[in-house]
Amino acid sequence: MKILNTLSKQKEEFQPLVPGKVSMYVCGPTVYNLIHIGNARPMVFFDVVRRYFLYRGYEVNYVSNFTDVDDKIIKRALEEGVDSSVISRRYIEECKKDMVSLNVMEATTHPLATEEIDGMIEMIATLIDRGFAYRAGDGTVYYRTRKFPYYGKLSHKNLDDLRSGNRSILVTGEEQKEDPLDFVLWKPKKEGEPAWPSPWCEGRPGWHIECSVMSRKYLGEQIDIHGGGEDLIFPHHENEIAQSEAVSGKEFAKYWMHNAFLNIDNHKMSKSDGNFFTVRDILAKYEGRVLRLFLLSAHYRSPLNFSDELMRAAKSSLERIINCAGNLDHLSKHAQTAEMTGEEQALLDESDRFGTAFEQAMDDDFNTADALAAVYELVRFINSRTTEESSAAFVQALQERLYRLTDVLGLDLSIDKASGNAEEDARIEAMIAERQAARKAKDFARADAVRDELAAMGIILEDTREGVKWKRA
Ligand code: AMP
Ligand code: ZN
Repeated sequence: MKILNTLSKQKEEFQPLVPGKVSMYVCGPTVYNLIHIGNARPMVFFDVVRRYFLYRGYEVNYVSNFTDVDDKIIKRALEEGVDSSVISRRYIEECKKDMVSLNVMEATTHPLATEEIDGMIEMIATLIDRGFAYRAGDGTVYYRTRKFPYYGKLSHKNLDDLRSGNRSILVTGEEQKEDPLDFVLWKPKKEGEPAWPSPWCEGRPGWHIECSVMSRKYLGEQIDIHGGGEDLIFPHHENEIAQSEAVSGKEFAKYWMHNAFLNIDNHKMSKSDGNFFTVRDILAKYEGRVLRLFLLSAHYRSPLNFSDELMRAAKSSLERIINCAGNLDHLSKHAQTAEMTGEEQALLDESDRFGTAFEQAMDDDFNTADALAAVYELVRFINSRTTEESSAAFVQALQERLYRLTDVLGLDLSIDKASGNAEEDARIEAMIAERQAARKAKDFARADAVRDELAAMGIILEDTREGVKWKRA
């Protein structure tokens, strides 16, 4: 498996630190609002990375944080006149709901910054002890950037260029820094802000330290993969490296992966610029799995422009896959023969090439666009090679192949998705069976009554060659 490593800008062969295991840390959202679909891009993509490692037989330890102490959260809390924990807790819950809608697996650990303050104080103290950090007059603790010889290695920035570029942007408090590039590890409390006691002053941590601390605590000093959106490369991830490596003396993360932006009209979707759609906005119009497929339709390192047209295309692509899975379901239930014929076995062997193409795409830096193309080809193959005469074994084997691939992409192919309610589905199926029985018995009044009842429930029936199909309106 090859990964384009931001550190080397090269595609590198993946070699885990521990054979058979993968440790991943993905920077999570700052929780002051509903997440937008730009935030959903890394969530969905890195979920696929995780799923593909699982598919390849690795054990994956996946950590993703919630930044629950931050200026934007505090501002929102002040606006609403509530404690900032009310805001962060609310949006963590909302974010988790969106993750369920998008079929994102729950992280092995989802740490919260505010629950890791002790660890942060400890790491900051170590950095001070080792000369990598210092306390300024007002109690702010800064990281001494120039002390870390590899600063800039991830973002491929030259320290001198950075320094001259930064000199002109002095903001409040900057004058107490030894160097304009030094960044905050701990800052003093301001009126009305959440604060914790520390050896330096009552205050709160800077943003970067939380990820170094959580990654170390839950995954160890060294991890395989660290991910996030490309806006995090500098300064956030550069600073994480400076903090973590100054403490451990070891390489922090082996592979750095960064997704490109989700754009609108070729501009980065962002909350602060106000040009965004929340996941919730989109879910009002499309199912989560449609959004998921849309987000995976481009390679993660390519910018992706949001449009209704692309969403509609994603919707119809998904429907093609779902219909194929539904057909297989139907054929398998109504198959006349159980055993696979020799001819079918040959076709099945032929279908292996789609799985191979899928794996090649995923092995090549997780090319989900090409992986999806392999799925569409498999669907075309299945549609053209299966009939009412197909054996159950053949149909089931094809179905297994299809599901194996769509599972990696986290695409749920169940016919009913809108409710996800198995009990209701069973009731609908029973009503459809009753309508069929009534029609057979020429009790058309009863059959129509059942159909109307189903229509009132928002269920649309479709009489097809393979029998009656249904979907929610
Ligand atoms: P934030 O809440 O801004 O810290 O962002 C959480 C995650 O979403 C980070 O990995 C960001 O890099 C990522 N992100 C934010 N905006 C976008 C966007 N428009 N496209 C892709 N990723 C984004
Ligand atoms: Zn981070």
